[in-house]
Amino acid sequence: MINAQKLRQEFPILEQVVNDEALVYLDNAATTQKPEAVLQTLENYYRKENANVHRGVHTLAQRATQKYETAREKVCQFIHAEKTEEILFTKGTTASLNWIARSFGDRFVQAGDEIVISYMEHHSNIVAWQQLAKRKKAVLKYIPLTKKGFLDMEEAKKQITNKTAVVAITHASNVLGVLNPIAELTNLAHLHQAIMVVDGAQAVPHMPVNVKELDVDFYAFSGHKMCGPTGIGVLYGKQEWLEQMEPVEFGGEMINFVHLYESTWADLPWKFEAGTPNIAGGIGLGEAIDYLDKIGLVEIFQHEKELVSYVLPKLQAIEGLTVYGPQDPYEHTGVIAFNLDDLHPHDVATALDMQGVATRAGHHCAQPLLQYLGVAATVRASFYLYNTKEDADRLVEAVKETKEFFK
Ligand code: PLP
Repeated sequence: MINAQKLRQEFPILEQVVNDEALVYLDNAATTQKPEAVLQTLENYYRKENANVHRGVHTLAQRATQKYETAREKVCQFIHAEKTEEILFTKGTTASLNWIARSFGDRFVQAGDEIVISYMEHHSNIVAWQQLAKRKKAVLKYIPLTKKGFLDMEEAKKQITNKTAVVAITHASNVLGVLNPIAELTNLAHLHQAIMVVDGAQAVPHMPVNVKELDVDFYAFSGHKMCGPTGIGVLYGKQEWLEQMEPVEFGGEMINFVHLYESTWADLPWKFEAGTPNIAGGIGLGEAIDYLDKIGLVEIFQHEKELVSYVLPKLQAIEGLTVYGPQDPYEHTGVIAFNLDDLHPHDVATALDMQGVATRAGHHCAQPLLQYLGVAATVRASFYLYNTKEDADRLVEAVKETKEFFK
């Protein structure tokens, strides 16, 4: 069991007063806070180890390279990939998904092929595919949702056909708080010789993920949503695909040999990583992984489940409050999107902030989903390992106060 009260002491940013109230940070789906261990690693790197990687023979360069590549090994073990050749460092989930759409898409997707996504995707798992569909004259299709807010698997079975080249689905919704059956979708995709791409931005930080067991072809996630720094993310890809794909960016670091008019590429994974990478970011992500591993992903998942079981019924009991997605706390992840009466979500989030409670208001980069739900925006509270039942109580009290205030 997680002792969140103790854990939160390792996050200095949480120890502050905002608008005269102790901060309650519930915007973890947007980005998470960083523990002391990660902050110290970043500082230490820039104070004592900063050097460019893969090039220099001097001691600092070797040390930086070794730490950066060790971080890649940590990522590899964390998601249970087979080898580090399959772990590419990117800027984040958005960049990872763009790389797949550009690199795999340009090589393998043909006119008339179908790309199947869903109504609950984040913009980063929509727009890159829209662009690919335009470039290739391919067809973009959306799997609808059930009334409860789950992916409609009966419809998925109809939409994924022999015409499908790519199935790209989020592992966990950043609005509805649902998990998707990735193994089942991957089976469906492979049955029809399509590839399975997973947006894991909201899953990897919160639960154990095993890309080998899931058998997905590509899996994308961001460091900053899992206690790591911003500007670093991961693209996992099966080696058999990565070998056949062209890099997306060209220049230093990614080459084997540059001739006047032709060049050859470095081995995997460096073939995709042009230019000086985010070295501190990679090393910081490695430290974040150590931190999460020490706590345990099963325990983190369980902790969020307990918090949601505690807070969801209390929110649902507030008259005029609508929760989007499943109503049963046991079917809900740590992301809760809601609206209060006919108040504008920005007004609600501002009123919550005045009481020290940080939530997110808006479309959460999921406009097609919100159109599907028939709302322009929602408030979103999202929990993580350092949130406590006291945080949950503060949220509920602040929502009640807000309701009173606007009466
Ligand atoms: N996918 C999902 C489900 C997300 O929640 C997010 C971020 O909010 C992203 C993709 C994009 O992540 P990033 O902005 O780190 O690239």
